[in-house]
Amino acid sequence: MFRLDGKVAIVTGGSRGIGRAVAEALAGQGAFVVVNYVRGEEEAKKTVAAIEAKGGKAEAVAFDVSDMAATEAAVADIAKRHGRLDILVANAGIAIDNLVLRVKDDELDRLFAVNVKGSLAAAKAAIKVMMRAKTGRIVFLSSIVGEAGNAGQAGYAATKAALIGVTKTLAKEYASRNITVNAVAPGFIDTDMTTQIPGDMKTAMLQSIPLGRTGRSEEVAAAVTFLSSDESSYVTGEVLRVNGGMLM
Ligand code: NAP
Repeated sequence: MFRLDGKVAIVTGGSRGIGRAVAEALAGQGAFVVVNYVRGEEEAKKTVAAIEAKGGKAEAVAFDVSDMAATEAAVADIAKRHGRLDILVANAGIAIDNLVLRVKDDELDRLFAVNVKGSLAAAKAAIKVMMRAKTGRIVFLSSIVGEAGNAGQAGYAATKAALIGVTKTLAKEYASRNITVNAVAPGFIDTDMTTQIPGDMKTAMLQSIPLGRTGRSEEVAAAVTFLSSDESSYVTGEVLRVNGGMLM
């Protein structure tokens, strides 16, 4: 089940964290995976090397998702070079945390440019290819914070809630072309992004997770793999929570 042999996938932000685990999981199921990054060339190469060490196929491609034109051009070029594009995982994201009274204009602009506009730009270019093929899978990385909110994360929460609206909208727009569009909403996952969270806040968060622990990137990747596979053919516009029960 969930085999992806012969398929081509792009994972934005595949150099580290959840994106790396997704890239490895999709490649493990047989997909050729394009590992996108913006600054982490060494890390992206490590993702590719890890995939190749297990007999998979991948390449690293740099582009900044916050540059919409560059992102659209890069996605179109990847699809042209490989002759197809079956799966887009719009994972690249940033967190800039601040209490709303201290939030700055440029912080909000940056959050929306990367998390929302970047994901939309990649999706827009992917949809153009997928419409011609009359099939495709798009998965956005939302967050528990987009549904439940979190003190100190108004800007980040706004972007992750926006992606739920985007997911449902695109699911409706492209259902007739057999393109499914879903979101995964992780809870507290151990990555570079969550190492910034202060210790006392982490302890409080752990107490609110019924499974009693933080999540692993591989556990998010498993959900993304399902939504990228043929077996999820009747699932669209869905937000799949991977949060240890933190929000039900
Ligand atoms: P992470 O460890 O900080 O990794 C972020 C990834 O995004 C890196 O690969 C980074 O590439 C890439 N990236 C950042 N800005 C980019 C840009 N402008 N263009 C292209 N790539 C860019 O983050 P993570 O924890 O794995 O999170 C991945 C996604 O899951 C994010 O959308 C995040 O909001 C979401 N999420 C995470 C958690 C969690 O607990 N960790 C929970 C809920 C949702 P470089 O290496 O080149 O910088």
